[in-house]
Amino acid sequence: MSDINKEDDLEIEEVKDIDSTNDDNDEDDYEEICYLCRRPESKTGKMIELPNDIHICSECMQKTFDAMGKGGFGFDDIPGMSNIPNISMINLADLQNMVPKKQKLKKKKVSEEKSKAPALDIKNIPAPHKIKASLDEYVVGQEYAKKVISVAVYNHYKRVATNTMDEIEIEKSNMLMIGPTGSGKTYLVKTLARILDVPLAIADATSLTEAGYIGDDIESVVSKLLAAAGNDVEKAERGIIFIDEIDKIAKKKNTNQRDVSGESVQQGMLKLLEGAEIEVPVGANSKNAMVPLTTVNTKNILFICGGAFPDLEEIIKERLNKQSSMGFKADLKDKYDNDPTVLSKVTIEDIKNFGMIPEFIGRLPIIFTLESLTKEMLIKILKEPRNAILKQYQKLLELDEVQLNFADPALEAIAEKALEKKTGARALRAIIEEFMLDIMYEIPKDENIGRVTITREYIEKTGGPLIDMRGVLKIEG
Ligand code: ADP
Repeated sequence: MSDINKEDDLEIEEVKDIDSTNDDNDEDDYEEICYLCRRPESKTGKMIELPNDIHICSECMQKTFDAMGKGGFGFDDIPGMSNIPNISMINLADLQNMVPKKQKLKKKKVSEEKSKAPALDIKNIPAPHKIKASLDEYVVGQEYAKKVISVAVYNHYKRVATNTMDEIEIEKSNMLMIGPTGSGKTYLVKTLARILDVPLAIADATSLTEAGYIGDDIESVVSKLLAAAGNDVEKAERGIIFIDEIDKIAKKKNTNQRDVSGESVQQGMLKLLEGAEIEVPVGANSKNAMVPLTTVNTKNILFICGGAFPDLEEIIKERLNKQSSMGFKADLKDKYDNDPTVLSKVTIEDIKNFGMIPEFIGRLPIIFTLESLTKEMLIKILKEPRNAILKQYQKLLELDEVQLNFADPALEAIAEKALEKKTGARALRAIIEEFMLDIMYEIPKDENIGRVTITREYIEKTGGPLIDMRGVLKIEG
C-alpha cells in the first residue's frame, strides 16, 4: 500500500492539508484525492466515498477486489488476507479507525485560466489610427512607416486574438524595416511595444550565430523575450522580437569562405519567423543541465527586422537606371542620384540582390522604408515628442527654479551639427550633453540665476548663453 502511495506522489502537484475551519468557498478550489493512489478526482473519475472523508477511486477499489479474488478468498475473509505475502490488501474496516487529515488537491490552475476571458480581446486592440496617433506623440515624421506599422500590428493582434491563423491563414505580419541609422527604427518598435503593453526583445543580428558557434544562438532571442515577459510563456507568445542590423547577415558576395554569420543565420531564423515550438531555458539564456526548459511557440510572436542596408540605394538606382535606359541611357543615368526617395522604391528583387535569401524575405511580408531625417525633423525631435530631450533638461532645471530656453537659431545649429555626423537623431543627445554639462554644472552655483537662454553662439563656441538674474527681475518688478 505504501508503494502505491509513493509511486503516484510525483503526479500530485500540490497536496494541501485543510483543517476543519476552512469554509465552503475554499473547498470549491480543491478536489478529492484517492486515499490509495493519491490521484485527484479529475483524473480518476468519480470516487467512492467512505466515512471519515476517505475517498477511493474505482480503479483502486477494483484492484483490491481483484487481489482478493486471486487469493481465492471470499469477502468475509478480508481480515485474514493481510498476512498473505505479495498481496497488497487493505482492510477497509481498519481505515475507519485511522482518522486521516482531509487531504485534497488544489484544482489545476490551467482549468481556471481557460475559463477566464482571453488576455487579448479583439475589441480592445486599438484601431490603426489610434495606434498611429499614439506613435505620433513620440516619433517625429516617418508618416508612411507609422501608418504601415499601425495597420500591420492591428491585423497581427486581431489574428492572434481570434486565432484564425490555421483556418483562413491570414498571413503573419512580420516586418522588414529599412532606414538609415538613427532614423528611429528601434525607437518606433520600442514605442509600439509600450503602447500595446506587450513584451519586447531586441537582438542584434550580428551577435546571432548558428547553434554550435561562438555567440548567441538564434533561439536565444526567444529566451530574451521570455525574460522580458517575466517568464510568463503566454505573455511572451504575444510579444515582439526586434532584430536589428539584419542587413549584416546578408549573403556575402564573392567569397570562398564558409559563411557562418550570414546566410546560415538567415536559414536558421526561418522556422522562428514562421512559427515553431522552441525549447528555451527559463531564467537564463543558455541551455544547460541545471536550467529548466520551457516551450515557447513563436506562431504569434511578431518579428520585426530592421537594418540600414547601406548600398541598397545603389542597387535600386542601378535597376531604375536600367529600366529607364531604353533609348535614353545617356540623359537618364544620374536621374536618381540626388533623389532622396530612392530607398522607398525598393523591391523584393533589390533586397535579394543585396544578399537576403528569398525564403527569408518571404517570411517578412511587410516591407517598408524610413526616411533620412532632415534638419527640420531633427529640430522637431529636439523639442516636440513627449519625452523630448529639451523638455527633459527644462524639467531638471525647473527643479532648481531656473527657466531654460533655447533660441531658434541655437536649435538649428544643433541640428546642423547632428546632420554632419550622419548618425541621424542619435547625434543629438551627444551634442546637447556636451554643452549642457557646463550649464548643469555652473547654474546651481548661483542661486540668483533665474533664466538661461542657449544661443547659437554658445553652440558654436563663439559666445556664451544669455543669463537673466532672478534678483534683477525681482527688483525690476
Ligand atoms: P535606428 O534607426 O538606428 O534604430 P534609433 O531608433 O535607435 O535609430 O534612434 C536613436 C534615437 O534617436 C532614439 O532613441 C530617439 O530618441 C531618437 N529618434 C530617432 N528617430 C526619431 C524620430 N523619428 N522621432 C523621435 N525621435 C527619434
